[in-house]
Amino acid sequence: MEKINWPELSFGYLKTDYNVRCYYREGEWGELEISSSETINIHMAATCLHYGQEAFEGLKAFRGKDGKVRVFRMDENAKRLQSSCRGIVMAEFPVAKFEEAVRQVIKLNERFIPPYGSGASLYIRPLLIGLGAQVGVKPAGEYMFLVFVTPVGPYFKTGFKPAPVCIMRGYDRAAPLGTGTYKVGGNYAASLVAGGKAQEKGYVAVLYLDPKEKKYLDECGPANFFAIRGNHYITPASQSILPSITNKSLIQLAGDMGMTVERRPIPVDELSTFEEAAECGTAAVITPISRIDDLDENRSYIYSTDGKPGATCEKLYTRLQAIQNGDEPDPYGWVAVIE
Ligand SMILES: *Cc1c(COP(=O)(O)O)cnc(C)c1O
Repeated sequence: MEKINWPELSFGYLKTDYNVRCYYREGEWGELEISSSETINIHMAATCLHYGQEAFEGLKAFRGKDGKVRVFRMDENAKRLQSSCRGIVMAEFPVAKFEEAVRQVIKLNERFIPPYGSGASLYIRPLLIGLGAQVGVKPAGEYMFLVFVTPVGPYFKTGFKPAPVCIMRGYDRAAPLGTGTYKVGGNYAASLVAGGKAQEKGYVAVLYLDPKEKKYLDECGPANFFAIRGNHYITPASQSILPSITNKSLIQLAGDMGMTVERRPIPVDELSTFEEAAECGTAAVITPISRIDDLDENRSYIYSTDGKPGATCEKLYTRLQAIQNGDEPDPYGWVAVIE
């Protein structure tokens, strides 16, 4: 096998040996199937292509110091995929079957799991799409679930270092009562223009405001937002953000570290009162925010000027990674060892 340079891996696609598939036909899900093909052959009128019947997930597996492979909170991803399916009227994939598919795909691609200490991990990408041919706007009658894996390095090449984000009121990623709470491709397509503009200007992400009033914070393109003030962990409540499993985990850890957790609408103005701000999600875990530039109001909120993350972000990051890697005991039952 070609040698992989683990520490140099980017957050990208690298071909692995197998993926696992499952089809929904005539009202039921079939057996899991193993495939070594990187392509799927689908009908040109499939609803995923025309009407956006597509949802996905993202989770990671880690190799521990003890050599064991641990996958993080896959039951949560399974349940969230079901919620996304309900949101865009697709057949729900059973939780137990999801977990079995994830176990299988990890084991089948074991040689691609990065070694302990490399900073890399195995990224797991499940997706579910409408396959049935339909020309009128209607849900498909057939669906496909597929899960593939790819070894990844850190999401941001700069690593655990504060990065700048911006606010732009001219764009939304989701509508107020739309699909923001579902992990569907359409939300990502809707975020590409603003994301590209932000990147051109040197920002790693757009911090979206609530799409109805533009008064409150929502989330950063593909990651949730949280802030630290004193002993408080503060994160937005909104009807248009994706419920991040990383955020949910950090909320638990912050509470258990004795912090007060606040989940509520956060007015934009409150940004000036925070000591630390960060993005969180599976891909990047935590990305501390160095500054938030409000491009419409010509205002900046600065959280780090020395290139170092805040102490609380650092503590949360270290604690979460220790549980994921198996360096510290997992009192929550978050990790499943793949045997
Ligand atoms: C996937 C995703 C997140 C992060 O969720 P995790 O479960 O922590 O990976 C945040 N926001 C959006 C829009 C997402 O799609």
